[in-house]
Amino acid sequence: MADREKKDNRKGLVLLHTGNGKGKSTAAFGQALRAAGQGMQVCIVQFIKGTWKTGEAKAFQTLSDRVEFHVKGSGFTWQEENKEKIIQTARDAFSFAKEKIMSDRYDMVVLDELTYLLSYGIVSEDEILELINSRPLRLHLVITGRNAGETLITAADLVSEVRMIKHPYEQGIKAQKGIEF
Ligand code: ATP
Ligand code: MG
Repeated sequence: MADREKKDNRKGLVLLHTGNGKGKSTAAFGQALRAAGQGMQVCIVQFIKGTWKTGEAKAFQTLSDRVEFHVKGSGFTWQEENKEKIIQTARDAFSFAKEKIMSDRYDMVVLDELTYLLSYGIVSEDEILELINSRPLRLHLVITGRNAGETLITAADLVSEVRMIKHPYEQGIKAQKGIEF
C-alpha cells in the first residue's frame, strides 16, 4: 500500500534544455538512460530528418525493452521543393508524439528538437501548452531545442540553458562520430 501510494504520488516534471551550446539532446538522452536504469519506460521522439543511424539510435536499440527511439519529421532546411509535405510530415510527427504522451504507457517522453516546430510555426504554443497540461500526471517530459520562448520556459519546471563558449566547428573541425552522431 505504501509503495502504491508513493507510486501514485509521483510528480511528472517538465524539463527544458535550450541555448546555443552543444549538449541539449545528449543531456536528454542521459536523462532517458537514467530513467531506464530505474526500470522506467521511456519514449524518445526526435523531430529531425534521420539521414543516418546515430549512436543514440543504435545504443537505445540495445535497451529496447525500456526505451523506444523514434526519428520523425523532415528536414527543416526548406530546401526541398514540397514545403506542404514537409509541414504535413512535421504535423504528423507531432500527432505521433501526442499519442505517445497520452497513451499513459511511459514514465518519460523526450521531445527532442521540439522547439523547431514552434520556430517554423508548424505547431502553436497553445497546442504545446495543452499537451503539457493534459499529459498523465506521472509523466516526465523532456524537451530540447534552441530558442525556447517565454511560454515554454514558464510551463517548464526545470530549464537549463547550454551556452556556447567554444565549439570545434569554429576551428573548421567537422562533426565527429561518437561526439555529434
Ligand atoms: P548534442 O546533440 O550534441 O547534445 P545539441 O542538441 O545541444 O547537441 P543542437 O542545437 O541540436 O545541439 O545541434 C545539433 C548539432 O549541432 C550537434 O551535432 C552539435 O555539435 C552542433 N552544434 C551545437 N551547438 C553548436 C554551435 N554552437 N556551433 C556549431 N555547431 C553546434
Ligand atoms: Mg539537439
